[in-house]
Amino acid sequence: MNVKNLSSFLDHPIFYVLSEIGKSHNQPVYVVGGFIRDILLFNKAKKEVDIVVVGNLLPIVEDFARIFSRGEYAIYENFGTAMVCAGDYRIEFVSARKESYRGESRKPFVQPATLEEDQLRRDFTVNAFYLSLNQENFGTLIDPFNGQADLEKKILRTPTNPDITFSEDPLRMLRAVRFATQLDFQIAPDALESIKKNVERLKIVSQERITDEFNKIILTPIPSKGLRLLFDTRLLHQFFPELVRLQGIEIINGIGHKDNFYHTLKVLDNVAKVSDNLWLRWAAILHDIAKPITKKFDEKNGWSFHGHDDKGAKMVPGIFKRLRLPLNEKMKYVQKLVELHLRPIALVDEEVTDSAIRRLIVDAGEYLEDLLLLCKADITTRDTQKLQRYLANFEKVEQRIKEVEERDRLRNWQPPITGEMVMQYFNLKPGPLVGLIKNAVREAILEGEIPNEESIAYQYMIEKGKKILQEQGITTN
Ligand code: ATP
Repeated sequence: MNVKNLSSFLDHPIFYVLSEIGKSHNQPVYVVGGFIRDILLFNKAKKEVDIVVVGNLLPIVEDFARIFSRGEYAIYENFGTAMVCAGDYRIEFVSARKESYRGESRKPFVQPATLEEDQLRRDFTVNAFYLSLNQENFGTLIDPFNGQADLEKKILRTPTNPDITFSEDPLRMLRAVRFATQLDFQIAPDALESIKKNVERLKIVSQERITDEFNKIILTPIPSKGLRLLFDTRLLHQFFPELVRLQGIEIINGIGHKDNFYHTLKVLDNVAKVSDNLWLRWAAILHDIAKPITKKFDEKNGWSFHGHDDKGAKMVPGIFKRLRLPLNEKMKYVQKLVELHLRPIALVDEEVTDSAIRRLIVDAGEYLEDLLLLCKADITTRDTQKLQRYLANFEKVEQRIKEVEERDRLRNWQPPITGEMVMQYFNLKPGPLVGLIKNAVREAILEGEIPNEESIAYQYMIEKGKKILQEQGITTN
């Protein structure tokens, strides 16, 4: 692509105005990084633009914000960066700088720098493109490390010795994996070796930044590529030992079990094909997480992982907490899916009653559709005949769930009899008896003894309630 084509992507007031502002302060201003990389790769410009200012960025940001965002901007003093939202553009400003982590410190040491020094601190040659916004050469591409050749070869190379690049900011090792996965690039052999050598440096990076990169890897179209790289380089071992432990096959008496790490990756890829939901992808990652701790071998039945669904669900909060993932309803969602992931497929048996189906619908509630996506993604056998059979079975289960759901109107079901109703009718104070009666009605509906209708349920509550109270020696009229 020639320079003329590139400058057509700068045909927008934000770039002309930045050019003017730079000139008025006598400070050079450049577009940098992903904005240019994406144009060269996909011929498409994104709306997130990174701007490098040589010298102090504040006067430039203030002038720019005055014109495009009523003077509003965010400044991140810790990072020496600023952000302005200009219409649907998000402009990140950073001063040309040198930065490095010293020894064990988690805080980068930042110093102002020349443009050449700024180039050297970029992570990859394909991220070190600069487009001049300066009047003497507006739209000129600066490509100090021949990043264009690397783009063509689809290779991630560091601008300088990779040991320096990665040890100065170890997060770059995760960024290498992330870009390799997002862009489907290879990491250059020397960079890959250097990552393997420097993995332990990751411990000085904050968990939030690690998890942020990890989530970006999970959100790519084929996340297994990134997870394999994380595993092979041992980056994964630094922050996610539970996932690493899934890897491996044990054989006893000639009987082996499947490798649960590679199985998990397959499930994750399957989910990624049908959904962009990050949390569903997390459920895929964690669905078998308790297999190593529940693994048993039995002469008669071979390998089993009994209870790994329940135990796995119990591990979710600890993992979320350590990885600084949100401890809110997203976590509960993941926990629920891990807990229930074996249930749909257990319904394959023709003999299974409607009540088992009803229970699943009620237990999964609003997560039912996602649970079915996860469960289907969990079918990963390579044997095509088996695969066809399992998928056909799964479809049957889906169909039965649909039928029962439509017939019994169980979507987001709340039992028609509330504790209030029980207390009022029997003149009871809050306590275990109220729960006992309420539950009896719930069970009767789920077991199919009575239909899911309020008037019938109310009548049932009266009869059953009287019995329960009598058994407790409480008389009613
Ligand atoms: P994307 O927006 O897809 O994440 P990007 O290349 O724009 O891609 P950003 O994280 O926005 O990535 O960073 C912008 C630019 O800043 C990068 O292209 C790179 O030049 C530089 N950069 C960001 N983080 C680092 C880092 N940790 N080390 C070195 N350079 C970095």
